[in-house]
Amino acid sequence: PYDVLIVGGGPAGAAAAVYAARKGIRTGVAAERFGGQVNDTLGIENYISIVETDGPKFAANLEAHVRAYEVDIMNLQRADKLVPAAEPGGLVEVHLANGGVLKGKTVILSTGARWRNVNVPGEAEYRNKGVAYCPHCDGPLFKGKRVSVIGGGNSGVEAAIDLAGIVSHVTLVEFAEQLKADAVLVRKLLSLPNVTVHTNAQTTEILGADGKVNGLRYKDRATGAEHLVALEGVFVQIGLVPNTEWLKGTVELSKYGEIIVDAKGQTSVPGVFAAGDATTTPYKQIVIAAGEGAKAALSAFDHLIRSSAP
Ligand code: FAD
Repeated sequence: PYDVLIVGGGPAGAAAAVYAARKGIRTGVAAERFGGQVNDTLGIENYISIVETDGPKFAANLEAHVRAYEVDIMNLQRADKLVPAAEPGGLVEVHLANGGVLKGKTVILSTGARWRNVNVPGEAEYRNKGVAYCPHCDGPLFKGKRVSVIGGGNSGVEAAIDLAGIVSHVTLVEFAEQLKADAVLVRKLLSLPNVTVHTNAQTTEILGADGKVNGLRYKDRATGAEHLVALEGVFVQIGLVPNTEWLKGTVELSKYGEIIVDAKGQTSVPGVFAAGDATTTPYKQIVIAAGEGAKAALSAFDHLIRSSAP
């Protein structure tokens, strides 16, 4: 068995692997796609000490850093079940979709999350070419330009307020009749001079030319009339979904499906820790996921030295 078995190979899992391996303990990482969301990222400009890099380069460096240590990397492996230890100090099992079973004295869950898509024509075609999902990451790329935010929940309204300070104009488009964000955020949003809000409005298409976004089409759901907004960027903010469906009923999850962790990354299951976008830790960012991964590995090590027989 592994001393530390990590499920997920994004920034959180990679940091956990490096920290665990540096303790000289048996470490394994099973990941569906090593690198995680970073593989889909174009520019990264907010990982402290690296002024600018791109996603594929960052992902390759994550893997190289983990490979510099004795870590078993099991890529292209999807976990579909977690079985807690039968007795205190026993082994935790991770069942794989291919039928294999991995065992660990401790397990770190770092399966990340995925942005919910609006699934309209143009979204996939212009992803990273004007269609963005992360205002903290990509907001500055649209400085002085016109953007739209799709989604009027807390994340959409927060994104619109944030972007309004950077871009020239924000058009927020919400499907429902009313914005669902907290009243204090809605008040703040409506007080901004460079924001237009359309509710009861269904986004139907993201348009572009020459490989760049140039517009968004929405339908007024009350009248059926179609409208076109000219702009340079579209931020899709209709939800971030944690990759935790396989843990339901085993590990305590929040109402959003996030793994509930304490300040040390401990989950509700003894010996099982979690880190990164899959957890309740706020602000889903690479630097935060990496820090949380390091923390979970140190917590797992602490658990091992306290619980293992001499
Ligand atoms: P992830 O990166 O999501 O990694 C999850 C890992 O778990 C992957 O290896 C995945 O294959 C694996 N996995 C999932 N389910 C299973 C399973 N059942 N079994 C086995 N393995 C599984 N953040 C920034 O800080 N700066 C940016 O500029 C930035 N830009 C972004 C741009 C885009 C387009 C996107 C989508 C995100 C961006 N982010 C950015 C956010 C950042 O990528 C995430 O916060 C970060 O990757 C989270 O790391 P993680 O390790 O928690 O999860």
